[in-house]
Parts: sequence; C-alpha cells; structure tokens
Amino acid sequence: MRTLLIAGNWKLNPTSTEAAAALADGVKNGLGPATDVHVVLAPPFVFLNKVDQVLEGSPIGLAAQDLYWESNGAFTGEVSGPMLVDVGCTHVVIGHSERRHGMGETDAQVNAKLKAALAAKLIPIVCIGETKDERLGEKTEEVLLGQLTGSLAGLTAEEAAGVVLAYEPVWAIGTGLTATPEQAQAVHAYIRGWLAQVFGEATAARVVVQYGGSVKPDNAAELLACPDIDGALVGGAALKAGDFLAIIKAGQDVTARGKS
Ligand code: PEP
Repeated sequence: MRTLLIAGNWKLNPTSTEAAAALADGVKNGLGPATDVHVVLAPPFVFLNKVDQVLEGSPIGLAAQDLYWESNGAFTGEVSGPMLVDVGCTHVVIGHSERRHGMGETDAQVNAKLKAALAAKLIPIVCIGETKDERLGEKTEEVLLGQLTGSLAGLTAEEAAGVVLAYEPVWAIGTGLTATPEQAQAVHAYIRGWLAQVFGEATAARVVVQYGGSVKPDNAAELLACPDIDGALVGGAALKAGDFLAIIKAGQDVTARGKS
C-alpha cells in the first residue's frame, strides 16, 4: 500500500559539482536499475542539473531542499516550482527545521510553499517536529498539531494524499541522538490519527510519513520496521554513498519481509 521513501538531504554539501556528481553516481551504481523502495536525493540547488544528468536511467528521484511560493518575478535569490521541474526535480523538501528554526520560516510560509509545489506537480516532503524543550515540556503533540494544521491548511483530501510528511524531532537532527522506535512510532501514529480526523481514514492510510533524525545504517532497520514509519529523511548519513545504500538496504529488507 505505502512504498517506503528513503530521501537523502545533502544540506549545504558537498562544495563542488565534481563531488556532488561522484556521490550521486555512487548511490546510482550501488542501487542498480530497480528497487522496491523509493529513493530520492536532495542536493543543493546549484548541483540539481548535474545530479539530474548523473541519475539519468536510474529510478532515483531528485529533490530540491526548498522552493519559493511565487513562480517568477522580482524575488531575488529565490527558486520556484516550475524552475525545479525544468531541471528535473520530482520532489521538494519544505519546512525543514533548519529553515523553521534557523531562518524563521512560519507554518503559513510552509503552507504557501506546499501549495506552490503541488501546483508545479512536485511531490512535497513537509518537515515537522518538536524541539528538545518542547518534548521535555510534554508539548510534542501540541506542537505537531499546530504545524500540521498550519502547514496543510486548505488542502483537499486528494492533495493531502500526495504529500509526504517527515517527522523530524529537532533534538535528533544532526545530533547523533535518535528517537527510539517506540518514541517515533507513537508520534507517527499521532500524525496518522490527525490525518484520519481531518482528511479521512482512506487518505490517512495513503500518506507516506518519514522519520528523520540521525538515521544511520545501524538504527534504520528497527525504525523502518515500525508500522507507521514509511521511510527516512537522512542528513549526515546520506553524504556517504555506502551508508546511504545501507539504509536503503534496510528499507528493502523490511519491505521484502512484508511491510507495505
Ligand atoms: C535532516 O537533515 O533532515 C536530518 C535528519 O539530518 P541527520 O540525519 O543528520 O540528523
């Protein structure tokens, strides 16, 4: 029913076109021509064109790490959905915590970007997650409720079914701390419950909800085996083809054992 999606968010890495091409090539060659999990790479904007060329003939999708909500015009420094489609993107990451917390991105802006992505026929990967203080203050569900309500405002059930959500506890991103499978599954179940309440059970059952936050080859299998975890958004471990391929392999093994 739901196919696992393993996405590599390269963030502000690497620093040359040559290195980006080599990393994409390593993932492409290691994966081979067919896969029963979906795989996506999200390089910086400036490498999208090159990575798209490298990935030609492979089943790997291409994601941008952000987009602007307008298609064109006087918006210096921004990149739009139609531009991303033009350079081969299939997906776009929206509302990553490094943008929400580092650059003050609001739920309303995430919502505008999400609608722009859908209008451009890009698959949006919308990130949500609580900070350490919010978790310690037992505010995780309250925070997620606000992010989900604000970020997905105004979507039809059909549109919502095509959105990928990434639950990324901020305290686990790039820290080496990972949510336990029990912690992650509990939040994913909450998210799916919210989706069911707002968009209906059938839609909730279709939405891919990834986990992100220090996913590594040695913890991927048990996270991906959780019933409501439908893939991983991977940062640091996506910068080494071997580690990223090992995470994909964990997803393939979970899928082969009958997780759908
Ligand atoms: C991310 O960039 O979304 C992420 C989860 O990073 P890391 O895997 O390094 O924690």
